[in-house]
Amino acid sequence: MQTETLPTSDKQRHFDIVIVGAGPAGLSLAQALKPLSLRVALVEQTPRDSLAAPAFDGREIALTQHSVGLMKQLDMWARLPADAVSPLRDARVMDGADPFAMTISHNDAPAGIAAGVPSELGFLVGNHHIRKAAFEALAPLDGEALFAAPSQDDGNMVGTWLFAGQAVQTVHSADVQTAPDGCAQVVLTDGRVLTADLLVAADSRHSSTRRALGIAADMHDFGRSMLVCVMTHPVPHHHAAWEWFDYGQTLALLPMNPCPDTGLYRSSVVLTLPSSEMQGVHTLAASEFNTELTRRFADRLGPMTLVSTRHVYPLVAVYPRRLVGPRLACVGDAACGMHPVTAHGFNLGLKSVDALVAELSRGRRLGRGLADATVLARYERVHWLASRPTYLATQLVTHLYTHEAAPARLLRQAALRIGQRFAPFRRAVAASLTGA
Ligand SMILES: Cc1cc2nc3c(=O)[nH]c(=O)nc-3n(C[C@H](O)[C@H](O)[C@H](O)COP(=O)(O)OP(=O)(O)OC[C@H]3O[C@@H](n4cnc5c(N)ncnc54)[C@H](O)[C@@H]3O)c2cc1C
Repeated sequence: MQTETLPTSDKQRHFDIVIVGAGPAGLSLAQALKPLSLRVALVEQTPRDSLAAPAFDGREIALTQHSVGLMKQLDMWARLPADAVSPLRDARVMDGADPFAMTISHNDAPAGIAAGVPSELGFLVGNHHIRKAAFEALAPLDGEALFAAPSQDDGNMVGTWLFAGQAVQTVHSADVQTAPDGCAQVVLTDGRVLTADLLVAADSRHSSTRRALGIAADMHDFGRSMLVCVMTHPVPHHHAAWEWFDYGQTLALLPMNPCPDTGLYRSSVVLTLPSSEMQGVHTLAASEFNTELTRRFADRLGPMTLVSTRHVYPLVAVYPRRLVGPRLACVGDAACGMHPVTAHGFNLGLKSVDALVAELSRGRRLGRGLADATVLARYERVHWLASRPTYLATQLVTHLYTHEAAPARLLRQAALRIGQRFAPFRRAVAASLTGA
């Protein structure tokens, strides 16, 4: 993607806001903007059919109670299949072969954070279910129809118009200070041009929209990859998540509801390895993979059986230098691309959506435009405070628990034992997991 000067085109429509990316963050933002009665375009490179029925991608998302509250407000929560929502009661953190586990219990969590949500640490839901619920709640209008209609008829229509199967090719934005009558502009794959008062980048941690508008980002490539899949096992998980910082590998287990076919205990399993080793595990035949994972989990769950496809993600954390730019705001992973270990990515994505809509609404009450510099600056400050400390703390945990020299091993084990004994620490972690 590159920036270019504004072309003139008769294939052009103007919107209040153009959102690039209809991942869970972009969809949630479009939905959250509805009460503002704006004209919103949502541009997504994936075809509409894939948005309406997203494929399983291996990710089981741990949602905080705060996120559950937001998803209820956005009419997404009730759309999730009941058996796709699994309670996350406790979280156990283990180190190496040490049988000790630091346990963060739901009893450590603050009560009543979101009305009507029982006192769990959080809930696990498949990413594809979240995407589907978000798409159904939004029920976007067809952007193609908008272009087919005579422009004078649709000029005042509000709603969300979806341009699916269209990647943004070029981006341009005029600075509000120097060009108050200017606008932001994106050019789609087929050459159509969308202009807007405000552009929102929701196009992943590697956001090309952000980059095209000159916003640098700090990136950390861990040189590791994460394999995610669903497995059944005979030993109960008691709805406790595991984060097991072993040596040479990190294992995680996210408790799901029982397998509907066999009734066996079922978990989302996450294996993190140096990227050079991952291919060998990823391509094992299913029966060999079962044996390998049972061994890697030291038989703690009994014989494990693969019951889904396997998906591998490279581990790259990204934090942009700015969260806003000229007529631009970043949300979701485009604003903060977390390491998944602390399960905050989409939770922070929802917070970014909530914060941006709150600031746009506040700006409107004060008579300010959507791209007003003070409105965007306030959003940046609010979301920076919400995301930056969590991002840095996650980086710290990840660095500590991937060091395997003898002093680091001692420190790793001591930290868990001290954490277990120190109730304020446990309560702080529980508050972070619930999103308090
Ligand atoms: C293994 C794993 C486990 C995770 N576990 C958790 C968890 O437990 N809890 C949690 O909160 N988070 C978790 N996350 C993070 C979570 O999945 C992400 O934070 C979330 O998916 C980000 O959503 P997004 O909409 O910002 O970005 P994405 O999901 O990356 O969506 C971006 C969208 O933009 C589109 N796009 C990109 N470029 C363009 C373009 N040029 N034009 C048009 N469209 C474009 C893409 O097609 C895509 O649909 C996990 C992530 C991984 C990988």
